[in-house]
Amino acid sequence: MDIRSMYYDELNEYILSLGMPSYRTKQVFGWMHEKFVGSVDEMTNLPKALRKKISDDGFIVLKEETKQVSKKDGTIKFLFRLYDGQMIETVFMKYSYGNSICISSQAGCRMGCKFCASTIGGLVRNLSASEMLEQVYAAMRITGEKINNIVIMGTGEPLDNYDNVIRFIRLITDERGYNLSARNITMSTCGIVPMIRRLADEKLAITLAISLHAPNDSKRKKLMPIAEKYSINEILDACKYYFEKTGRRISFEYSLVKGENDSSEDAKELSELLSGLNCHVNLIPVNPIEERNFEKGDNNSIQKFKLGLEKNSINVTIRRSVGSDIDAACGQLRRKYSVKV
Ligand code: SAH
Repeated sequence: MDIRSMYYDELNEYILSLGMPSYRTKQVFGWMHEKFVGSVDEMTNLPKALRKKISDDGFIVLKEETKQVSKKDGTIKFLFRLYDGQMIETVFMKYSYGNSICISSQAGCRMGCKFCASTIGGLVRNLSASEMLEQVYAAMRITGEKINNIVIMGTGEPLDNYDNVIRFIRLITDERGYNLSARNITMSTCGIVPMIRRLADEKLAITLAISLHAPNDSKRKKLMPIAEKYSINEILDACKYYFEKTGRRISFEYSLVKGENDSSEDAKELSELLSGLNCHVNLIPVNPIEERNFEKGDNNSIQKFKLGLEKNSINVTIRRSVGSDIDAACGQLRRKYSVKV
């Protein structure tokens, strides 16, 4: 049993099934999601027997295995250990508008994107809602800081772990708990079309970010195996549907890989593709990983690409690079660690 993953009503059923009064539900939910305690012992107003039962039933807490702190900007990359020994990465970032956290949704990933370190060892398992919540809660316990924004952009494909990710979002936005606004959550996907449509129907006010990375299907197929399954047109149709249902502007992520997708023709083709769509493009200079020989273009070519899009009235920003002095590229710390162990 994993009570940190339970919705309020499910927790209430559990509490009642133990013969406890329902005001205990409010207390336990508050300890878990409002005060985000790291141990059952801290739930001091509960009877000992209830505390023992909760802890015997398995209370999910993440343990910090190690962390890297950027000397430049205070970015912290945590490596957390899960109950079964799996390791996951979580990145805490300070911005002028508040603190953000980038969480993982799976241990490993099976999407196989060519430039990404997280997918090299394949998928190990899905994370539970409690393991996603705990990345946020543990980071707050350790840093003593509040978290204002969550991006589900760490290791894993969130739409490949749909039910648990939805549960995570509903729990972290529960007003009886941490009560984060859904508007402060961004989910990034490589573009699993039927799941984007299903997400639209949930009518959550989260921002959807699509990892596009190419202006056409043939270039996309070279970088992302998922492109064999769903075309860019199908993705864009699903994005329009998402916008219709939620009113949320779509973000597109585009990692610039030297010589692969960063020419001025690519910029032109991309702006034609996206013209008329209510969207925003986030350019990410590719973060080279040891196992592949993709290269980052120079500043000039990145600026040129940006101008190429702006010329055609596309909203575009270059992702500010934080934590460049630590292994901030997806999956690099986890990989280093699992290779070492
Ligand atoms: N599976 C989801 C979320 C995780 S990846 C997705 O595909 O969107 C988060 C973002 O980082 C994605 O846009 C991904 O393509 C990008 N990314 C992964 N490795 C990268 C690298 N080495 N350099 C630049 N961007 C990378």
